[in-house]
Amino acid sequence: MSSAARRLELPRHEVVALHDGDFALDGGAMFGVVPRVVWERLTPVNPDHTIPLATNPFLFRDGGHRVLVEPGIGRRWSDKERAMFHVDHSGGRDVVESLAAAGVAADEVTHVLMTHGHWDHVGAVCDEEGRPRFPKAEHWIPEVELEAALDPGHLRRASYRREDLQPLVDAGLLKTFRGEHEVLPGLRMVEVGGHSDGVSLVLLEDGGETACFWADVVPTRNHVHLPFIMAYDQNAAKSFAVRREWITRAADEGWWNLLYHDPVAPIGRFVRDAKGRFAFAPLEGAEASA
Ligand SMILES: [Zn+2]
Repeated sequence: MSSAARRLELPRHEVVALHDGDFALDGGAMFGVVPRVVWERLTPVNPDHTIPLATNPFLFRDGGHRVLVEPGIGRRWSDKERAMFHVDHSGGRDVVESLAAAGVAADEVTHVLMTHGHWDHVGAVCDEEGRPRFPKAEHWIPEVELEAALDPGHLRRASYRREDLQPLVDAGLLKTFRGEHEVLPGLRMVEVGGHSDGVSLVLLEDGGETACFWADVVPTRNHVHLPFIMAYDQNAAKSFAVRREWITRAADEGWWNLLYHDPVAPIGRFVRDAKGRFAFAPLEGAEASA
């Protein structure tokens, strides 16, 4: 039986969807202005009105590099927070265990790319004691995202935790950029904003193919339709403009799309449905998802 694939072969790179913890957020907040009668047909809903979400870090591997895109939600949570957000690391849902299952040790990771500073994206970059978990890697984050994470007065302070990133700063492992940064030939981080001030896309160009990691610009396969913008987004008008520009490009140019929060199908194409709206076509694979 075919199921949604978690692995993609490009000419020079292997792209693997890893696992960190599963969690859940309020369904209404995840779909913004979309009425519940519409979104509840798309996803299971928990009794507390949250919906199940994954954190899928991605591994980009070529002959010489092991790039980790978005470390994960991590394990530094109180029992109360774990219960509130349904944080679940069972079944190998831990970024380091998941990397090991793909044949990569934590100290073999060469680059860690973080699209923005929200806790569900960077919480796994340090361990419970605050030690960096990828000690040999160059870590990159947009400069305005580091500033937001270190500023307790930020408007969206509930989305950032200073302790997620301070240890990396102290260890001299964290580098920042503004606008756009070429990490390696063919691998770029492009700051777009909207969801947060500096949220970035990660673009991998390889042998005429493009793979794009969408962070929270398109968090799940149910967020490809343009008006489906999360209530968490700092600037919804900007998110709409960013999404219209980049989703259109991804669909027109046949990109592979890598989705961080999708619990079912993390890799696929953006296509247009019969009404001309954008939709998601998952990459199918023979293997059951690990
Ligand atoms: Zn997120």
